[in-house]
Amino acid sequence: MNLTGMVYRPPYEANSLLLQVTLGCSHNKCTFCSMYPDVIFTVCPMEQIEADLEEAAQVWPGVERVFLEHGDAFVLSADKLTQIAAAIHNKLPKVKTIAMYASIQNIKHKTDAELRRLSDLGIGGLDIGVESGLDAALTYMNKGHTAAEAKEQLLRLTKAGITYSFNAILGCGGADLWQENADATAELINAVQPHLLFIGSLHAQPGCKLYDDMKTGVFKECTIGQLLDEQERLISRLELKDTIYFGSHPSNIVPMQALLPKHKDEMLAIVRQTREHLREKLEDHPVRGGEGSILSR
Ligand code: SF4
Repeated sequence: MNLTGMVYRPPYEANSLLLQVTLGCSHNKCTFCSMYPDVIFTVCPMEQIEADLEEAAQVWPGVERVFLEHGDAFVLSADKLTQIAAAIHNKLPKVKTIAMYASIQNIKHKTDAELRRLSDLGIGGLDIGVESGLDAALTYMNKGHTAAEAKEQLLRLTKAGITYSFNAILGCGGADLWQENADATAELINAVQPHLLFIGSLHAQPGCKLYDDMKTGVFKECTIGQLLDEQERLISRLELKDTIYFGSHPSNIVPMQALLPKHKDEMLAIVRQTREHLREKLEDHPVRGGEGSILSR
C-alpha cells in the first residue's frame, strides 16, 4: 500500500482505510498551514490506486469506510471520483462511506447532478476546513472562499445528501476580532446546520506565514481568556437541531465532545468553570507543542 509524504486524517477516521488518490493539497496556501510545504500537488494514476485496492482487499476485505488522501481529494473531477468509487466498491464490496478532505472551492466546481451522483456512490463524511464565518478572518487566512460562498456550497452538499464536518478554528480573528469571529461563525453554522462540528484552536508551526506573523506581532494571538470567551460566545449563539460537537482537538483549552442542542448548558458551564479555574492565567497565551497541543495553560 503506497502512502507517500506526511499523512493526515481526521481523528474520527482512525478505523478507516486510508487510500492515496492525490499527493499534497491543490490550494496549499492557507496562512496557518504547514502540512504540505514542498509537495507539488499530483493526482495519482488509476493503476496505482487499483494496485493499492487489490492489496487492501487481501488484508482488509471487510473494511466499511475509506478515507481518500491527501489534503483536498474532493478537488478531483466528479468523473475521476466516480471511477475511484467504482474501483473501491468493486474490490471492497462492504464499503459504505468514502470520505475525504474537501474545500469550499472543490464543491463549487461540481454541478448539483454530479454531487447527487457522488452521494449515490457513497461519497460523504467530507471534512471541510471552513474555519470561520468572518470574511476578514477568511481573507487573512487565505482560505480562498468567503462566508457567503461557504454557506451556498454547504447547502448544496446537504441538498445532494452529502454529509460533512464543518471545521471551525477558535482564535481565527485574533485578539482584535474574537467577538466578531464568534458571532459570524455561529451565524454561518446555524445557517447550514452541519451534521458534525469540529472545533480546533488557532496555532502555527514553523514554516507558515502565520507563525512568522505571530512572532513579529503582525497577527495578535488570542490569550487563554479570549479563547475561552470566544468559545463561550460561539456555543451560546449556536442554534442547532442535531449536531455532534467534536472539540477534542489537542489545541483546545477546553476539549469536549457533546451533542447540540442537548448538552449546550453543560458545555457552557464547563467553559465558565475552566475560566474560573484559570483566572490567574487568562492574560497569558497557551504554551503549545506539536499540532498545537496545549503543554501548559
Ligand atoms: S486547504 Fe487544508 S491542506 Fe490545503 S493549505 Fe489549506 S489547510 Fe492546508
